[in-house]
This record gives sequence, structure tokens and C-alpha cells, in this order.
Amino acid sequence: MINYREVSLWKDVKPKEWNDWHWQLVNRITDIDTLSRVIALTPEEKKALNDDLLELRMAITPYYATLMDPNDINCPIRMQAVPTSAERNTAEEDFHDPLAEDRYAPVPGFVHRYPDRGILLVTDQCSMYCRFCTRRRFAGEIDRPKSREEIQAAIDYIERTPVLRDILVTGGDPLTMEDENLEWLLTSLRRIPHVEIIRIGTRVPAVMPQRITNSLVTMLKKFHPLWINVHFNHPKEITPHSARALNMLANAGIPLGNQSVLLRGINDCPYIFKELFHKLLVNRVRPYYIYQCDLSRGISHFRTSVGKGIEIIEFLRGHTTGMAVPTFVIDAPGGGGKIPVMPNYVLAQGERRIVLRNFEGTITVYTEPENAGSHCHGCKEICTRQSASSGGGVSELLEGSRLQLEPQVLKREERRHQWMEEKAQPKNAPDAQRSISASKDK
Ligand SMILES: *Cc1c(COP(=O)(O)O)cnc(C)c1O
Ligand code: SF4
Repeated sequence: MINYREVSLWKDVKPKEWNDWHWQLVNRITDIDTLSRVIALTPEEKKALNDDLLELRMAITPYYATLMDPNDINCPIRMQAVPTSAERNTAEEDFHDPLAEDRYAPVPGFVHRYPDRGILLVTDQCSMYCRFCTRRRFAGEIDRPKSREEIQAAIDYIERTPVLRDILVTGGDPLTMEDENLEWLLTSLRRIPHVEIIRIGTRVPAVMPQRITNSLVTMLKKFHPLWINVHFNHPKEITPHSARALNMLANAGIPLGNQSVLLRGINDCPYIFKELFHKLLVNRVRPYYIYQCDLSRGISHFRTSVGKGIEIIEFLRGHTTGMAVPTFVIDAPGGGGKIPVMPNYVLAQGERRIVLRNFEGTITVYTEPENAGSHCHGCKEICTRQSASSGGGVSELLEGSRLQLEPQVLKREERRHQWMEEKAQPKNAPDAQRSISASKDK
């Protein structure tokens, strides 16, 4: 971390300005000339920045810029913030909207994918635009919060959808909004009786910690139960400033989680994550998810193998505090939601014995009880209430309320339909010939 007063660009900036988040936001670095006064740019970087082909705009808070190594193009902070021409490459597997968020938006700005919760996108603005952003299709498009009318339409949907008990406010970054706008939003959500918990997803503590002010936390406190998930990817992002911001949020009684993205060349190493997670725990932040990098267009250079994520969990589970072990997930392309992936610990399973291995490689056996069936006497009232709002899927198979889940396209069903048709119309009939070839054409 460099002292900002040593950068010619900011040598006259007063601490009062530097520590003001509005100053940080207004003075974000958005052009190459300014950036080249802070770090030494390579010709390659200049080329990328010089043309307007970038799908996602560049904006770097002066604070985050001081975390960059001015002379190292492989600096993990720099790689997250400074565009490269690799962003213009499209891989075959890339999508415009890999998680099909637009498809599962009943109203613009609200994604309802899971049975009991959804995400509310309140702004497209971020204080720093992460080069690997999964929402790069719209992040930074107008660089402003949505109007209250637009947000109100999503709030109306939440209000008329009683299964939604958990609302995750995200964007963009919701904490780039003014206190009073946020307060209006949280008040509107809190007014809805079925909204049990509100969550905010934000990268602000990592990239613009000045945003976390006394007045902000005093306001947020009024909306408990409120949870915040922050987004740190590298131990270098933990500074006295971000630590102060996290401490203020935790002191306001807000439980903190962290979501990281697994990024090639930035944090694709178990030891980086171990160090990051230890530092987060010291700051009362519980690592929640590591995401496999999504298939958004133009970020294939940031992706790792899935095996790298599994390896990272292998190096954490058992080796360190359990609370430092997040869930590694792949957000399913096409909109299936987050799917956990992890090392295999079950080596063999018999009628009553399960053979397991631990983190050291010790192989052990657990013997199950003789009558292992469920002995839960249940509480009728809880069972009735929870099963009524159940999300279906595989749990319905376990419950016995459904016999099978079938893919929509099933080769054996297509074959069966063909047999049935053949049976109904003998082969030599001219009509039958036509219908068989028609079904082939489909
Ligand atoms: C990630 C996500 C959620 C929240 O998922 P959790 O696993 O409950 O944290 C909800 N809705 C959408 C659309 C999401 O992408
Ligand atoms: S803060 Fe989140 S939404 Fe904003 S650019 Fe970074 S990853 Fe994308």
C-alpha cells in the first residue's frame, strides 16, 4: 500500500477529502492519462484502455489504486481493476447472461430463481468495476442508481409474493447509493411482513471503505435482522482502512459473510485463500462462498479449472478453523443456481458402514445404528408449514411424494412415441410413413 500523498496526482489532497467517500467516488480513475500518473502502464495496457471497445467501463477509486504495486503488471489488485485487451476475446463457451438472470426476472431488476428468496438489483453503479464481473452485461452501463419508480416495481412484486422470506439487495453495489435512498429502500422492504431477513451484497469495504460511516451504520442498524456479504478476493485487500469498515459493521450487530471469486493469476492458490480467510475471521467476517468464475463474455482469461477450487477446499478443511472453510460453488449456467463442489470424503458405503477419509488421509469407519430409519415424531405444525413452501426437486423424491424427475428431452420417450405411432398405423400404410419421417424432422 502506497501513501497517497506520495503520488503527484494527489499530493495536495487533504485527509478530510481523501477520507470522504463522495470524494473517492467523484475522483475515481476512469481514463488512461490519470491512471498512468499512478502506475506504470505497459503498451499492452495502454492499447486496451485507448479504445472504446471495452464492454465494462473502467473506474478505480483512488483508495483502491493505492493498493496496487505501481510497477508490477501481475499485482493481484491491479489485475482486478485495470482492463487488458484479453477482455475483448470471446470464448466459445461464453454467454451474455450465463446465469439466465434476465430469464428469471419477473420484473426488471428482481431475479426470482430459488423457492424462498431472490435478488434485488438496485443500481448498476460500483465504486470499482472488477474486470471479472459476472454482471458486466449491465454493470456500469449508466453508472447511477435506478429510479425509485423502477425499484418500486420490484418491491411490489416482492410484496405480492409471500414465499419470498429473504431478499438480497445487490447491483452493482448498493452501498454506492446515498444513505437516504438506501433508507427508503430498506424501509420499503421492512414494511413487508413476509420478508424475514434482508441481505446486502457489497464490495465497498474492500474498494471504498470510506463509505462505511457512523451515519450509515446507525441507519442500517434500524433494519435488523440485516446481514451483509462483502467481497474480498486477496489478503492485500485487508488494510487498516478495510478492517475499520468491517469492524464498524460488525459493531452494528450485522453478521458478515464473504464471497470470493476464484481468479486465475490473482488468487488461484490455497495459501492465498488461507491467509485471506484467517484475516477475515480476525475481522469477524465468516467466509461464505468461493465462486468458480462464471461464463460471462470476455473473462475467460480469469477462469481456472474447477479442480483448482476443489484443491483449495482440500487445503482448508481440517487444516484450519472450520469457520474459515467456505462452500465452493459453480453457479449453474442456464440458471440452476449455485451447486456446491468439494473433495470426496466418502470412500465406500455398505449396509451399515461408511468408510471415510479425513484431511490427513486417515481412513476410518463409522457404523450406523441397526434401525437407522427416521424416528422423528415431528411437529405437525412445523412439518405442514415447511413442506408447503418446499422447493420440490430431489427432496420430493426422498419424501416419496414424487417417483421420478425426468429431463424434458428424453431419447427413450421419443422412441416410445414412435413405436406407439407405428402400432397405431401399420407400416405399409402411406400415412404412417409420412408421420414417422415428420417426427424425425423435429
Ligand atoms: C446467489 C443467489 C441467491 C442467494 O443464494 P444463497 O445460496 O441463499 O446465498 C438468491 N437468488 C439468486 C438469483 C442468486 O443468484
Ligand atoms: S463490485 Fe460486484 S457488481 Fe461491481 S463490478 Fe465488482 S463484481 Fe461486478
